[in-house]
Amino acid sequence: MLQFLNQKFNCLVYNPTNQNTLYFMAIMITDACINCGACEPECPNNAIYEGGVSWKYADGTTLRNTFTLHDGREADADELHTPVSDDYYFIVTDKCTECVGFHEEPQCAAVCPVDCCVPDPENVETQETLLQKKAILHL
Ligand code: SF4
Ligand code: SF4
Repeated sequence: MLQFLNQKFNCLVYNPTNQNTLYFMAIMITDACINCGACEPECPNNAIYEGGVSWKYADGTTLRNTFTLHDGREADADELHTPVSDDYYFIVTDKCTECVGFHEEPQCAAVCPVDCCVPDPENVETQETLLQKKAILHL
């Protein structure tokens, strides 16, 4: 099994097929969150929401009506979705680009006072995919 170091977060990422492709992980918020709200205004994609708040793809993006996500799924930009967490701030994975194309590092992780914005091992993506996500969110 090939693994290498994701230097941004000092974590190993499994690269299943291509030794030359960099893989990153979307960011997730753990239950160590103290609900301070510092991260929410820093996200260029409006991917961060307060616990218990419904979310839309259209929030903070140029998406409207029906559109196609980076992985081929169809979605309605204006549909309200149930909160990912009722208790803590949460990140909508489909809207998180790790700040690629906007900033050098994930802004939520940079401002979080308790370091609870961490790589999500369930969502490993290439830089190409992250750029594609950004292009879809912001036409
Ligand atoms: Fe938003 Fe960037 Fe944090 Fe992702 S990494 S949730 S895009 S601030
Ligand atoms: Fe929670 Fe950290 Fe965001 Fe504050 S900055 S709301 S502690 S994830």
